[in-house]
Parts: sequence; structure tokens; C-alpha cells
Amino acid sequence: MGMFEGKIGLVMGVANDRSIAWAISQALYGEGAELAFTHLPSPSSERRVRALAEPHGPKVLLPCDVQKDEDLDRVFQACAEAYGRLDFVVHSIAFAPPQELRNPYVQVSRAGWHLAMDISAYSLVAVANRAAPLMTQGGSIITISYYGGEKVIPGYNMMGVCKAALEHSVRYLAWDLGRQNIRVNCISAGPMRTLSAAGISGFDELRDHALKKTPLGRNVEFEELGATALYLLGKMSGGVTGETIHVDCGYSIVGL
Ligand code: NAD
Repeated sequence: MGMFEGKIGLVMGVANDRSIAWAISQALYGEGAELAFTHLPSPSSERRVRALAEPHGPKVLLPCDVQKDEDLDRVFQACAEAYGRLDFVVHSIAFAPPQELRNPYVQVSRAGWHLAMDISAYSLVAVANRAAPLMTQGGSIITISYYGGEKVIPGYNMMGVCKAALEHSVRYLAWDLGRQNIRVNCISAGPMRTLSAAGISGFDELRDHALKKTPLGRNVEFEELGATALYLLGKMSGGVTGETIHVDCGYSIVGL
């Protein structure tokens, strides 16, 4: 029997089969989980996510722009009606306007700052607030960050500031929801070739650098992110909350 047999979760942030959220979904399906999905409100996004998830027959697969409260409300209402509860949520969402990532942080516009923070950091709070009432048997929420939220990674710019806010939100949410037996944790992933990564200037250079610097002498595999997600979403991490776990082949421990 799979570790997630009888468990129900919502996955937010699958764009295609190279998304970190899809790697996590595959790991969860492998352990018997039942999953609901959201996708960006566009026909092409829906087509891609539906094609991936359809073989597993998800009861909920809905459009959701996390900037819209009404979209979020509809998704959690649908989960309540379809399943009656949720055991876990995977939040794997980020966005910043391309010019705000290209430009030095000192030049970030007010509108760009608010937009990036809203989608990449506030959305976790909005999601956790709606998920908690459905986690009647306790629950686990995870999100995905990057080392650029702790240290300056030239080129990561605005997104680094979003990740700092995201990681600290994880700690405050863990505090707020802990007495309901809801845990909130974060995976700080090494650089992965995904759609979002294409928007980071110098991403290939960053991956090459990581390759040389990591103690393991390589970059992270998608399956390794999936395996850590299983740990954080499941019983094995029952005493862990408010943590950011680096799954980066050790990149973050090396100073030089
Ligand atoms: P991805 O492009 O596959 O996923 C990003 C997702 O964010 C997409 O599904 C997109 O639809 C969603 N999204 C963007 N704006 C949204 C909005 N307004 N409403 C709802 N959804 C929205 O790329 P990914 O690399 O899998 O990114 C997933 C997470 O992992 C992001 O938080 C990213 O910052 C983080 N991360 C990525 C890397 C990497 O190297 N790829 C490393 C560390 C952390």
C-alpha cells in the first residue's frame, strides 16, 4: 500500500511536464494520493494540465489566477464539495514581469514589485487561509523557494526578495496553523530547467556554477524534489514545521 493511499491533496503550479509541481505530483501518484489541480486561466494551460492529469481522473481541475480571490474561493469550494477535506497542498507558483528580473533590483518599479510579491509570496498566505478549514484531520502545506531568497544571486533580483518573504511567511504560517496540526514547510530547490527558469537571466551560467560548487558535483534531479515533497507532506515529517529544506546537492553550505 502506498504512503499516500486515502490522502487527498491540491497541487497548484503545474504548467507542463517540466514543472516542479508535476514532478511532485508524479511522486504523490506513485504513493497512491488523490490529487486536485489548478492551472492558469488560459485554454493552452488547461490543455497541458488536463493532458497530464486526466489519466488519473482528478475530480477537481480548475483555472485559478492566484491574484483573484474569487478564483481561490471557487477552487477551495470545489475541493470541499468533491472531497469534504484536504490533507495537503502543494504551492509551486511564482511570477515577476520579465523586465523586473532583467533590470537591477534598485530599478524595480512599484507596480512590478507589488505584482511579483502578490503572485510569488502573498498567494501562499491566501492559499493557506483557505486550505486550513478543509484540513480537518490536520494537514501539510509546502511551497518552493530558491537560495536567492537568502543570499544575493545576481540576476535573480526581484524574485530573491519574493523568496525571502515566502520563506518567512512559511514560518509565520507554521506558527498560526500549528495548533490545528497543520504543518507548513518549504523546499529550497537547486536550479531546474523549467518554464519559469527561462525568465532568469544567466540561468545556464547559474546551473554550470552550481555543478562546479556543489559537494555532490551535480545538479538536483526532479525525482529528488518529488521525494523530499513526499517526506514533507507525509507522516515521516510529523514533527517538522516552519522549515526550509535545501534540496540543492549541498550548494548552500559552500562559501567559496
Ligand atoms: P513552472 O513555470 O513550471 O511553474 C510556475 C508556475 O507558476 C506555473 O504553473 C504558472 O502557471 C504558475 N503561476 C504564475 N503566475 C500565476 C498566477 N497568477 N496564478 C496562478 N499560477 C501562476 O516553473 P517551476 O520552476 O516549476 O516553478 C515552480 C516554483 O519553483 C516557483 O515558485 C519557482 O520560483 C520555484 N523554484 C524554481 C527553481 C528552478 O530552478 N526552476 C528553483 C527554485 C525554486
